[in-house]
Amino acid sequence: MENFQIIYPLGFPPKDESGVMFFNNISNNTMFERFTFGFPPYLICTRARPEQPKTKKHPSPNLVIPDNQQLKATENTHTHTHTRTQVTRLVNQRPNTSTTPMFRSLKLKRSLQSIITNTQTSHFNQTLKPQISSQLNLIRHFSSPPPPPTPPPLSAASSTSSELRKYLGYSALLLSCAIATYYSFPFPENAKHKKAQLFRYAPLPDDLHTVVNWSGTHEVQTRVFLQPESLEELEAIVKDANEKKQKIRPVGSGLSPNGIGLARGGMVNLALLDKVLEVDKEKKTVRVQAGIRVQQLVDAVKEYGITLQNFASIREQQIGGIVQVGAHGTGAKLPPIDEQVISMKLVTPGKGTIVISKDKDPELFYLARCGLGAFGVVAEVTLQCVERQELVEHTFVSNLTEIKKKHKKLLNDNKHVKYLYIPYTDTVVVVTCNPISKWWSPAKFKPKYSLDEALQPIRDLYQASIEKYRGQSMASSSTAENETKISDLTFTELRDKLLAIDPLNKDHVKKINEAEAEFWKRSEGYRVGWSDEILGFDCGGQQWVSETCFPAGTLSKPNMKDLKYIEDVMELIDKEEIPAPAPIEQRWTASSKSLMSPASSSSNDDIFSWVGIIMYLPTTDARQRKQITEEFFHYRHLTQARFWDQYSAYEHWAKIEVPKDKDELAALQARLRKRFPVEAFNKARAELDPNRILSNAMLEKMFPSDDNASM
Ligand SMILES: Cc1cc2nc3c(=O)[nH]c(=O)nc-3n(C[C@H](O)[C@H](O)[C@H](O)COP(=O)(O)OP(=O)(O)OC[C@H]3O[C@@H](n4cnc5c(N)ncnc54)[C@H](O)[C@@H]3O)c2cc1C
Repeated sequence: MENFQIIYPLGFPPKDESGVMFFNNISNNTMFERFTFGFPPYLICTRARPEQPKTKKHPSPNLVIPDNQQLKATENTHTHTHTRTQVTRLVNQRPNTSTTPMFRSLKLKRSLQSIITNTQTSHFNQTLKPQISSQLNLIRHFSSPPPPPTPPPLSAASSTSSELRKYLGYSALLLSCAIATYYSFPFPENAKHKKAQLFRYAPLPDDLHTVVNWSGTHEVQTRVFLQPESLEELEAIVKDANEKKQKIRPVGSGLSPNGIGLARGGMVNLALLDKVLEVDKEKKTVRVQAGIRVQQLVDAVKEYGITLQNFASIREQQIGGIVQVGAHGTGAKLPPIDEQVISMKLVTPGKGTIVISKDKDPELFYLARCGLGAFGVVAEVTLQCVERQELVEHTFVSNLTEIKKKHKKLLNDNKHVKYLYIPYTDTVVVVTCNPISKWWSPAKFKPKYSLDEALQPIRDLYQASIEKYRGQSMASSSTAENETKISDLTFTELRDKLLAIDPLNKDHVKKINEAEAEFWKRSEGYRVGWSDEILGFDCGGQQWVSETCFPAGTLSKPNMKDLKYIEDVMELIDKEEIPAPAPIEQRWTASSKSLMSPASSSSNDDIFSWVGIIMYLPTTDARQRKQITEEFFHYRHLTQARFWDQYSAYEHWAKIEVPKDKDELAALQARLRKRFPVEAFNKARAELDPNRILSNAMLEKMFPSDDNASM
């Protein structure tokens, strides 16, 4: 407990150690931890720490830290890139130090006023007065610089009894704080905002980084955010952190909806290690630093006539991040993206820098390829690419009955295929992408409707909804934004605005879905473009998402469970009246040999279906976001309870949410053990990262081991 200082709550002994002054004195390199001790008054502990490893003062172009302004500006481009300076700006937006004392003293004055009023008729007036005035001294300390004269001393007897009362008061306060602490901790998950409330006015150190995931659903604050510029620097960071047992969880672009890359203890980010190191045109392979973003990589290798085999909906992920979570695109013959990794250079805390591949330590290679950032910082990746391709995208609208008839053909005949289901309608949007053939001529396929015509139904609904909700408080925030011309909004922006009006009203959501179905009907047609452009998808704004992966048979013999799963989900939505927005996205991949991949299988023939359910967070209003969050978790829980075991469905690693409830957590751990080699995973971690500096609470909860008591 060296260098341990305690900041007392206001009016708590000793009087001359006023908490506020301590706040002002917190220096930049003081690591401080905060504890609430009971309620309103809080006990804050600061502990001087040896200086932290310095954070690079370079911008982090890859880190995604959305703020509301930026989200508005770039909602549909998915390029919410902030710099580290902006991280600091986010922090600095909070009220500055000087507001803290004033805020507290005002509160105290108000309570004193009530004490004075209440005690005016009391026969304890005599003895109370000095106490009040001594507290008033305290107020003046905070609100105006010169302290008032000290009140005259009391007689010995009254001083003893007032001392006694004072210490009785202190004891009572201490006891009630302890009781409140006992009953308030741990805060339930949904009390996060309450915790934040307590410290809303507290100043934050300049070098505190706020890191938020793309959806704004997970956030950490840390003072250790390292961005090495060279492999040597990364190696030194890992070595040093391991010696000091300092957490440095690898984080990529921070896109994972569940914030799996975030850690309060500290993070390392490879945004500045983003070079293409080697291209082998013959073999169509590329060796890159793992901090390179997918789009950057694709742009850099296109001059060699090659590209990645498949893409996720967006291309802002770092290669390290997209591989480590086993991300995927769609195409029943195409495996998830990790399967394209030929070798990886890992900087590990336990064994230094190692290179692993199919030939060199295959066991570890297949375990660490989709390794969730647990085995080492992936510094370099060699990827198998494919020839650069132009694709023809075909979008058409169908329904489940029709789809059932041609499902096998759709899976087999198309390089990429996905279905978008629209709850409360029978619409299934089918999107296929295939290499352009010499017979294909765009002139033959003129779209029936212009974009304006396709958007008209949703624009009309927006106008009608504004009218309908006019005057209702619920709609006020979104109608205020009416000055943005409706005609300037994309489909997903309009959907977000419509949802923001009344996000949990099933009938309202149903109307939006119907307008969406009509939009897709009017958007039927063809599009041609390079694979990296065509395979992207505008996923809309911030959102909660749960995506599961389950076996769907083989290409030659699809088991049709994928379509049954959808039928079940649609039935559930109807029956439970879930305000489920569109789309429910269904995609397919071939299997992966990575042992931790949800599509892991030793058989090349197996295919897997990936189904994502969603609820958007179209508002910045904390209360509304909380309500949507609760509704989403209810929706997710229902699908989990009814279908996951039945279909052997497992969540995407970037989308799995770890439950707070002990029993649910135990059930999740048991499920994960059934599907994944958790023992081997933990054993390899123990060797490569013995001090768990690369881990975070989420990993420890999912994969507990006997020696993680220190986490
Ligand atoms: C709008 C949107 C659309 C998406 N679409 C898809 C989709 O179509 N398909 C899909 O599968 N996913 C999709 N995702 C999820 C996304 O692809 C994954 O979450 C991906 O991992 C994000 O990459 P990242 O660089 O942001 O990694 P992060 O989220 O920062 O980290 C992910 C994991 O990788 C680890 N990691 C990162 N870098 C390294 C490193 N250098 N060394 C070791 N470990 C590392 C982290 O520790 C963490 O475990 C989407 C996400 C969003 C927000």
